[in-house]
Amino acid sequence: LERSKKSLAGGVSSNVRLGDKPFPLFFERGTGSHLWDVDGNEYIDYVLGRGPLLLGHTPPEVIQATCDQMWRGQIYAAQHELEFELSERVSRIVPCADLVRFGISGSEAVHGALRLARAATGRQTVLKFEGQYHGWLDNILYSLSPDPNRAGDALHPAALAESAGQFSGTESHVVVLPWNNIPVLEEYLAQHGTTIAAIITEPVMCNTAVIPPLPGYLEALRDLCTQYGIVLIFDEVITGFRLSLAGAQGRFNVKPDLTIFGKAIANGMPISCLAGREQYMGLIAAGKVGHGGTYNSLPPAVAGAIATLDMLERDGAAVYATMERTGGRLMDGIKQRAAKLGIPVVVQGYGPIFYMGFPTTEVAADQAVYDYRSSLAMDQELYTHFVSAMVDRGVRIIPRGNWFLSSTHSDADIDQTLDAVEAVLAETIA
Ligand code: PMP
Repeated sequence: LERSKKSLAGGVSSNVRLGDKPFPLFFERGTGSHLWDVDGNEYIDYVLGRGPLLLGHTPPEVIQATCDQMWRGQIYAAQHELEFELSERVSRIVPCADLVRFGISGSEAVHGALRLARAATGRQTVLKFEGQYHGWLDNILYSLSPDPNRAGDALHPAALAESAGQFSGTESHVVVLPWNNIPVLEEYLAQHGTTIAAIITEPVMCNTAVIPPLPGYLEALRDLCTQYGIVLIFDEVITGFRLSLAGAQGRFNVKPDLTIFGKAIANGMPISCLAGREQYMGLIAAGKVGHGGTYNSLPPAVAGAIATLDMLERDGAAVYATMERTGGRLMDGIKQRAAKLGIPVVVQGYGPIFYMGFPTTEVAADQAVYDYRSSLAMDQELYTHFVSAMVDRGVRIIPRGNWFLSSTHSDADIDQTLDAVEAVLAETIA
């Protein structure tokens, strides 16, 4: 880490931090659900690249397809058949995807969706929700910080709202409202609805805890967007191909106008996808809205995506059932072991992705975190402490509370993880 800091700003990349400090673990290799660091220590991995590795580290089919394509040459800024093979596949799988385009990162795909919505509606303002993250570009700067008092934190929704006017051009037109709250949204839209170009949302909030939409919430969002002529964008960068083959929109059966995928679509190869109704995507087809990027549809990544979707279309039932079952066992097990020790804990979400945290106040309901503000009642410092002790016991988890499962996590992994959870809770927290 000391050597790294001399040339790499901060010594680690920005998302490898524990609390305010770099997390000084350097990894060498990964297979399935396991990772090894440079000192030879083995970890069960629930970070999974922050979501992409749905089929675990290095699934042979995906790696093989990617490598084979690499050797066919670096075909950039030129057509290749794999690209439309992948777009046909996404259209087949995702109900709203009449037309599709590919990029590299989720952030870029979000940028593309907002640009389309603004062009189609002739309106500038974009509405997003507190605690949701749509990439790190200025045009939709996020609201993530669990600590509203953190100095100079432009990520907090209040800070975002205040500073919104300081961004240049269209970036300034962002409104932030609480999520899972239809009355507040209705009130806002009754006054401003016809000035809003797009509502963008994670259909399940995964960047603050893992918060399911309240029953009827997504349907109500859909209706309000239709009523006011607003483009509804589902950002499925985390939920896509994870909560079901067709993402959260498949799981909840609500159709957005535009949608964004990244992460799991290629099990870790760099590719994102912007897709949606012809009415909007057609603007790209007609040359009215640009969609650029030197490395868009990078052939090895496209080949990796096709191999991933091949596996998910072929074995999807087993893949999703496995994650629901093992993730469910883990969620139940954490609750039981914490209860045994008398430690209040919140565990909520789904088998393939769930959230764990320690509440600072008494929690009655099983699902205690329902929006960004309620997430502030969780003890982040204690969780940071927990994460550090778990890593010492060979279980790697994200410091902010999300646990990602892959189809390769076994019952033995779950047993070992639950033993570590119990030991850490007993030794460091009880
Ligand atoms: N949207 C969501 C919901 C995300 O979680 C992320 C990344 N975590 C992004 C967009 C941005 O994707 P990327 O990091 O690939 O730019």
